[in-house]
Amino acid sequence: MREYDLHIDGEFQASDGDDTISVTDPYDGEVWAHVPRGTATDVDRAVRAARNAFESEAWGEFTQSRRRTLLNEIADAVADNVEELAELETRQNGRIFAETKGQLGHVVEYLRYFGRLCEQAGSGRINPVDGTKEEMFCYTKREPYGVVGAVTPWNAPLLLSVWKLAPALAAGNAFVHKPSEQTPVSALRFAELVAEETSLPDGIYDVVPGYGTEAGSALVGHDDVDKVAFTGSTATGREIAAEAGRNLSAVSVELGGKSPNVVFPSADLENAINGVMKGIFASTGQVCMAGSRVLVHERVHDEFVAELVERLQGVEVGDPMDPETDVGPMAFREQWETVEEYVDLGVESGATLAYGGGMPEGAPGECFIEPTILTDVESDMRVAQEEIFGPVAAVIPFEDEADATRLANDVDFGLAAGVWTEDMRQAHRMVDAIDAGTVWVNQYRLVAPNVPFGGFKDSGIGREAGPEGLEEYYQTKSVWFDLAGDVRDPFAGDY
Ligand code: NAD
Repeated sequence: MREYDLHIDGEFQASDGDDTISVTDPYDGEVWAHVPRGTATDVDRAVRAARNAFESEAWGEFTQSRRRTLLNEIADAVADNVEELAELETRQNGRIFAETKGQLGHVVEYLRYFGRLCEQAGSGRINPVDGTKEEMFCYTKREPYGVVGAVTPWNAPLLLSVWKLAPALAAGNAFVHKPSEQTPVSALRFAELVAEETSLPDGIYDVVPGYGTEAGSALVGHDDVDKVAFTGSTATGREIAAEAGRNLSAVSVELGGKSPNVVFPSADLENAINGVMKGIFASTGQVCMAGSRVLVHERVHDEFVAELVERLQGVEVGDPMDPETDVGPMAFREQWETVEEYVDLGVESGATLAYGGGMPEGAPGECFIEPTILTDVESDMRVAQEEIFGPVAAVIPFEDEADATRLANDVDFGLAAGVWTEDMRQAHRMVDAIDAGTVWVNQYRLVAPNVPFGGFKDSGIGREAGPEGLEEYYQTKSVWFDLAGDVRDPFAGDY
């Protein structure tokens, strides 16, 4: 059994409260760790530590090049401990080990990428303004907000945390993190590694585990948090953005999706089937960008579904640590129940269960679910409109390109989309027509450190990764120098 404390000011510290949260392995249901149930007082302590660290001389010495070195040190600390961190991730949420290891590789890349961006961090521009060149000099510079409060979900815990931490540090902020109550262990171990193995000044990165409505809302509502960065469901994102609004804190929210994956008749069908599987069944469908609305042209619909069903028969569901496993368990039992309820709801509302829908035979634990296909789905059914966050594909036939466009946009979300076609003119038209933050053509679920990611519509506000991801952690300051020092007429101002 592992026991953790809060991680504040570079060390483990006891919580102000006595309660703990149990961390369960979804593969076998075993409780294997306890973390504190962080309180508002704990959060306040962490925010004060972060504020003091942000204003300290030690952090002031972390100029661009030192921050670049720092981010590379953190990357090295992760790279040296990939196996351990990946195993913690898998034990928390059941993602297959091959994938959590791959994600840790991405974590290293994102840290190094934002390390490189430190070179331009804070750079601004000179603004031409009225007045002679000699007299007036006006420029903008970008400065860190101060203390960032970050709240993250359970499905890709360290990756999604580093998507925020890396740009926040690159821009020069301090960072207080409330990880998901389902997956707090990797965040605490990561904070310990960063404290032990890097030059990060104490207090710049603090972790308070706990529940969303307790530690999470205390962090989001804290009046000394300058910027709130959130990834999670759209329902929670709305509350968090509203709370940040009440405080007038800057806010970015990366939210849920119900992403269309559109298969045209000209597509290489085998490739499209692989892409649809990658979109909705990998990671047990527990990804924000899951291609859960599978739109298939009516001419290829039946062949597509038949082949997809055949392919699913060969998918191995089981132990996420076993390299032969394709699909692990759902991350926790309540999530399993939610998915089952959606499958029942789909069938009750007229969809056909074409494959799966239940616990696989001989499942080793109580969180396993078969990859599931629902056909005869209408666009307005709840299974076609709401994020299920499990391996459930809602297949909807379409007549032509106009119909496909209408159906692709007939949801409140706008996170991502896939288009499968060999007709590149058609692909370009679809790219323009689909309201989503990312569109993949003949691919699905690709991300990279230099490519911005985020949502249109109800899928979020702001972008992560790329130069846009760094911009989220800055505020702009405009500076005017009147070198002549001559106000002239005090009543003739422009504003
Ligand atoms: P969730 O919204 O339930 O919880 C996310 C985090 O918010 C957790 O740490 C939780 O404790 C905290 N929280 C909950 N209520 C809160 C409140 N009132 N105040 C402050 N914090 C609160 O989401 P989840 O179930 O952990 O994650 C799954 C969701 O995340 C899905 O909707 C998925 O699409 C989304 N997601 C989005 C992205 C993206 O980049 N767009 C990436 C991954 C996951």
